[in-house]
Amino acid sequence: MPDYETHEHDVLVIGAGGAGLRAAIEASAAGVSVGLVCKSLLGKAHTVMAEGGIAAALANVDDRDNWRVHFSDTMRGGQYVNNWRMAELHAKEAPDRVRELEAWGALFDRTTDGRILQRNFGGHRYPRLAHVGDRTGLEMIRTLQDHGIHMGIDVHMECTITTLLTDEGRVVGAFGYERERGRFKVFRAKAVVLATGGIGRAYKITSNSWEYTGDGHTLAYEAGAELIDMEFVQFHPTGMVWPPSVRGILVTEGVRGEGGVLKNTQGRRFMFDDIPGPYRTQTASDEEEGWRYTQGDKSARRPPELLTRDHVSRCIVREIKEGRGTPHGGVYLDISWIKQRIPNAAEHIKKKLPSMYHQFKQLADIDITKEPMEVGPTTHYIMGGVRVDADTQMSSVPGLFAAGECAAGINGANRLGGNSLSDLLVFGKRAGEFAAKFAKTSGSGTIDPRQTANGEKRALEPFERGGQTEGPFQVQAALQEMMQDLVGIVRTEVEMQRALDALGTLRARAARVGVTGHREYNPGWHAALDLGNLLLVSEAIARAAIERRESRGGHFRDDYPEKDGALGKVNIAVRKGRDGQMEVSRVPIPEMPDELKRVIEDMK
Ligand SMILES: Cc1cc2nc3c(=O)[nH]c(=O)nc-3n(C[C@H](O)[C@H](O)[C@H](O)COP(=O)(O)OP(=O)(O)OC[C@H]3O[C@@H](n4cnc5c(N)ncnc54)[C@H](O)[C@@H]3O)c2cc1C
Repeated sequence: MPDYETHEHDVLVIGAGGAGLRAAIEASAAGVSVGLVCKSLLGKAHTVMAEGGIAAALANVDDRDNWRVHFSDTMRGGQYVNNWRMAELHAKEAPDRVRELEAWGALFDRTTDGRILQRNFGGHRYPRLAHVGDRTGLEMIRTLQDHGIHMGIDVHMECTITTLLTDEGRVVGAFGYERERGRFKVFRAKAVVLATGGIGRAYKITSNSWEYTGDGHTLAYEAGAELIDMEFVQFHPTGMVWPPSVRGILVTEGVRGEGGVLKNTQGRRFMFDDIPGPYRTQTASDEEEGWRYTQGDKSARRPPELLTRDHVSRCIVREIKEGRGTPHGGVYLDISWIKQRIPNAAEHIKKKLPSMYHQFKQLADIDITKEPMEVGPTTHYIMGGVRVDADTQMSSVPGLFAAGECAAGINGANRLGGNSLSDLLVFGKRAGEFAAKFAKTSGSGTIDPRQTANGEKRALEPFERGGQTEGPFQVQAALQEMMQDLVGIVRTEVEMQRALDALGTLRARAARVGVTGHREYNPGWHAALDLGNLLLVSEAIARAAIERRESRGGHFRDDYPEKDGALGKVNIAVRKGRDGQMEVSRVPIPEMPDELKRVIEDMK
């Protein structure tokens, strides 16, 4: 084996967002040595962008809340294809994880009697999101980072992992490169936790940062793990639509939680026009009741703007398609109207939604305390990811764990806002705990030099092709355009088959992509290496979406607009077949225990 810079840890965590940091803290607390690798600088992971809050049934604002309501909201939101055990653990453990974060120094907004304040969010029956204005992710990352650093975790920043190393089917380490200098690195580890986040950069309009290229999904797939639920991509209803340079940037659901309303160009609150059956009894019957709900009236039901994200997105698309959209192809989201209801409305909005106020003022020259915002759906989150055991978070590959957005199960067909940050804490902790246990009972395994040599060869190929061929950015842009058009919010078999054909062509183009220059901080090279991951997750999404011939949650089929009972009992899985091709299968969802069924019945 060439003389690569080599690091050895009991547990290697790939990703320094909420899930990775929480996993690293837990593994370290269990007494094993921990390495943490991330593509960007520590503190810059995507979690830092999270705005609205962390969902946990603390019952600080409404004492009717408890884990049962949270569990049942999560299952209903996910349209019952969630991993019910994960949903149960999540609902039960999230409050402790939030309190623990507070004990480690997180400064949450407060109720008047000094407890953690909680706000309304889509699909949650009661105010449930612990928050810090609309900058919750920043506080969470800062707290976890401070805590983690003091536990002696070794951090390897600006380092991209490109290959997992295996020994007789078990994961024994990882291979990657330093982004700054381009040097290769080997990490030996007894257990590896993937916490690499999502895939949003496979689409043209997205709220996701440059890091979201499906790396963890691809690493796991290539190592032999299964991915499930890849057809379920969440299109958040409210992204900025204007100016073009900021299209897709998120407008937090917190705006609607604080009383913001959606209107078309005819001034109509169109969300009242279509309320799905399962939510009818929980939804306000008029605007007055909806407003009272946002102001904490416990006898009122939530406004239809706070229905689940998949539904709100489709209603917005309908308004735009039927000609009632704004000049820039969105609808209006108005929080300024609350000045009719409360004194000092402008100050109130700036206090509750400081980032939104600055975002619109600086990027679009709009004062949201005075004017409505123009918004439209944006690719936001993937419910699908690595299939893991609910309790331990281990994948089907021994020694390989996954947590956070790159893992799947808890959200089913649709994630409720706020359930990601709590997922990171609950399952990040579990992944760290069980990875440490695995490491303590396992030897180091052997690194196969052919695997590292192959990793190096593949990484350097774009340089060999040089500048005579197409560059990576053109292929990436073509992929994003194609996925947006053919595997987006509304899908059909015909279009998705075209997407598979297009993916074949794009794969061939990607194999010819060349880059110039040297290995020191070369964005073209990084993009060339990301391309393979983006193509793989795009294929997984398209194939799983073709297989699910029904509409459910984030996955809407124009050719199969109804739910299919049989498909409600399975998850769609993809894995790498022996011939190297992607195999798609249906995995039955285990029967839910009676006690959990009763919880769901009781909450209806
Ligand atoms: C604008 C915005 C607002 C949001 N607001 C909320 C909210 O209020 N509440 C909520 O619950 N959810 C929210 N979400 C969703 C939530 O923020 C994410 O789902 C969550 O932060 C993902 O966390 P993670 O730990 O899984 O991954 P991330 O925080 O994305 O971290 C991924 C890490 O993996 C690293 N990485 C990736 N690939 C590699 C590789 N190949 N090698 C090495 N390192 C790698 C990255 O560098 C990074 O450190 C929001 C999302 C967005 C975009």
